[in-house]
Amino acid sequence: MDQQVVLPEVRRKPVLKQEIAFLIIHLLPLAALYTGATFFDWMVCIFLYFFRMFWVTGGYHRYFAHKSYKTSRWFQFVIAFMSQTTAQKGALWWAAHHRHHHRHSDTPADPHSMKIYGFWYSHIGWIVGPDFKETDYKVIGDYAKYPELVWLNKHYLVSPTILALVVMALGGIVNGGSILAMFTTAGFSTLFIGFFLSTVILYHGTFSINSIMHKFGKPRYETGDESKNSVVLALVTMGEGWHNNHHYYETASRQGFFWWEIDITYYILRGLAAVGLIWDLKEVPKHILHSKNKKEAAELRKKYEAEAQRESGSNNKKAAVEENVASE
Ligand SMILES: [Zn+2]
Ligand SMILES: [Zn+2]
Repeated sequence: MDQQVVLPEVRRKPVLKQEIAFLIIHLLPLAALYTGATFFDWMVCIFLYFFRMFWVTGGYHRYFAHKSYKTSRWFQFVIAFMSQTTAQKGALWWAAHHRHHHRHSDTPADPHSMKIYGFWYSHIGWIVGPDFKETDYKVIGDYAKYPELVWLNKHYLVSPTILALVVMALGGIVNGGSILAMFTTAGFSTLFIGFFLSTVILYHGTFSINSIMHKFGKPRYETGDESKNSVVLALVTMGEGWHNNHHYYETASRQGFFWWEIDITYYILRGLAAVGLIWDLKEVPKHILHSKNKKEAAELRKKYEAEAQRESGSNNKKAAVEENVASE
């Protein structure tokens, strides 16, 4: 590594006029002060937070950004569609920027380094600013070869709009007794609290991984960046809080590397694998698990391989002896 002075890149400031939509999404839940909110609306809000957090971490992140498991082409589309119901833009946009983050973690080229650009920029400034609007299809070429994914990436408001309409219809039925009530306060209160409030909280749950997960908590591994592990954030984000683990070995489908590191997303992925919807979940190799840094990992790998060779050698000998005994 060179020892040059690290200068931040010039990052342009957000233009408020262009970010009105983002601002409005934050203000819309307040409209419930006018419509009121029912028990059902709050239940939808809680459900949609956790349900969609799964798709952020199991979809956008572990599938599209890191390819940590395999699936069929139709279920891949489902994953992209469900991820995009979060209104966090296209799956290819999300994953391409995230790959960039891993490649340049906590250096000036990192889109959202809290160490270099401060809390607000790493949390929200990079998203609302003009510098990272486009999808770099070269970085995500492995998925950009599917036209249906590129279409969905370009039309990223399709998924959240459909979900918002479904939520309104449910509000109409449950709060108003008829689907036609979806365009009255019965449907709108579910839209404001069930859909928009959970979307806003989900934004900040996801964004906290980009910002404070590179600041608060403890690192287990030497990753050369500021990534940390935190059980609190792991619970809030369904497993993403084991961020230092993840930066150490990013291709694993699990981020809680040990049984006590709760990783709800991984448990759900195992469930999807059990019913055959996904497969080939990438695990954490033993030499990665028990090392502190990549140098130690390489040494451990050699040691484990030598042990495995010795063991298979002695097993072969044992098998040969048993064969001799049997043939006598
Ligand atoms: Zn990170
Ligand atoms: Zn990642």
